Amino acid sequence: MPAGTESLPPVDEIRACRLCEAHLPLGPKPIFQLDPRARLLITSQAPGTKAHASGRPFDDPSGDRLRDWLGIDRATFYDPSLIAILPTGMCYPGRLPKGGDAPPRPECAPHWHPRVLPTLPKVRLRLLVGGHAVRLVLGPEVALEEAVRRAESFLPRHFPLPHPSWRTRVWVKRNPWFETETIPRLRTLVREILAQP
Ligand code: SF4
Repeated sequence: MPAGTESLPPVDEIRACRLCEAHLPLGPKPIFQLDPRARLLITSQAPGTKAHASGRPFDDPSGDRLRDWLGIDRATFYDPSLIAILPTGMCYPGRLPKGGDAPPRPECAPHWHPRVLPTLPKVRLRLLVGGHAVRLVLGPEVALEEAVRRAESFLPRHFPLPHPSWRTRVWVKRNPWFETETIPRLRTLVREILAQP
């Protein structure tokens, strides 16, 4: 590693990663957004085919829903000096035989997260988006809905959220506290964190 780059996210190494290539139907193409200045970290699950094609995370209706929950626009969301995105698995993992996207590759987070997280020293809050991210960070025994209900108890470091896919709309209708309590609290936190120097 060249002198002076020890504390930077290893983006070139991540882009060159072939660790689980044999399991990736579309081949390795890590999707992430990393900058040592970032103050908010989003750990999601794994890119879908659209993100794989565009190279941009959350550039779809799920991303629009997530930005709405956070109360931020696209320019803020894609500003790497404010927001970092480090998925549980950084490459598209393919489909399950019965339908639906496969889970994030299990090799990815154990290999990369311990190397990347220390290079994001300004992160004040990590959003855990979806069950894979919640179980990875909070523990395999933690259920997503329970974690979201108890989001306040994971502060100041973590904030669990459901994945913002279209399926979540039904869940949100059944759990109105999410829109009346959780989202306003989240927007306040995000606004405060992004406003800090
Ligand atoms: S999913 Fe992660 S570990 Fe696998 S090739 Fe992509 S970056 Fe490497």
